[in-house]
Amino acid sequence: MCAKKLDGKACAAEVETNLLSRIQSLQEKGIEPHLAVIIVGNDPASHVYVNSKIATCKRLGIRSTHIELASDSSEDELKSKVKQLNDDDSVHGILIQSPLPSHMDEEGITDLISAAKDVDGFHPTNLGRLVQGRLDGMIPCTPHGVLRMLEWAGIELKGKKAVVIGRSRIVGMPLSLLFAARGVDATVTIAHSRTNDLPQVCREADVLVAAVGIPEMVEPLWVKPGAVVVDVGINRVEDESRERGWRLAGDVSKEVQTVASWLSPVPGGVGPMTIAMLMENTVRSAEIIAMNT
Ligand code: NDP
Repeated sequence: MCAKKLDGKACAAEVETNLLSRIQSLQEKGIEPHLAVIIVGNDPASHVYVNSKIATCKRLGIRSTHIELASDSSEDELKSKVKQLNDDDSVHGILIQSPLPSHMDEEGITDLISAAKDVDGFHPTNLGRLVQGRLDGMIPCTPHGVLRMLEWAGIELKGKKAVVIGRSRIVGMPLSLLFAARGVDATVTIAHSRTNDLPQVCREADVLVAAVGIPEMVEPLWVKPGAVVVDVGINRVEDESRERGWRLAGDVSKEVQTVASWLSPVPGGVGPMTIAMLMENTVRSAEIIAMNT
């Protein structure tokens, strides 16, 4: 078997095209969707992520404000920036790029973002809605991107057995909740570092998602023949054959394509979908604010 490609790049391009008309109708009402991105410190990968978010905003006609704080900034400085953006009616979305320096309480600061402007979907109010089975809040971008990409490819989840490896606040846990929500209707197993016999748990999955952060951990023998496999992982691994000395690898071995029916590539799978869903959340937030004013 040679797995079909779950082409997140193509799906993201469609999401972006659909957003253009929504952005235009907001602009006709004098509203410019506006995303503010705060980055603290000099982590090179974080700057790459922020730059690609800003570039996507530009391409779509979404206004962006890019705020950079030094790595030794105080938590109070960051909190006052968040407060300023919460109070600024022209801002529809606020994103704080993860990770924050270790002296800052990332979850505590996320709690300060207005839930309506929380386009990352990490605020307890938005995560709480997901727990209630409500999909009307801001849904975290990576899990939402995975679900949208599966729907786009025509992959049915109803009644299917899904295994999500990883239980993080930003990927694994919200994705598991989304998969289990009414209307999506998968039967979900959440696996993590304490799961016994992980390969056997994975082999039971019709849909297997890896969101771990260990390069190429999922091997062909872990995958049921014909299963759908989504690779969320983004890992840098040394590769002397490349001029830059490294390459990007997912959490799933490329060999899995010999067993799976569908496989998302890294790069070009979940990554572009995450940014597309961030844009969609920003536009949605602008639409909701426009409706209520
Ligand atoms: P976290 O480190 O927050 O969570 C990793 C999860 O994997 C944890 O729940 C952990 O379990 C579990 N885990 C760790 N080791 C094992 C193991 N040996 N067996 C089973 N489970 C294990 O990572 P994130 O959720 O933030 O990210 C996961 C991956 O996804 C990373 O590679 C990250 O770069 C990537 N990512 C990609 C995005 C995209 O846009 N494509 C967006 C966000 C993340 P435990 O809870 O027990 O510690």
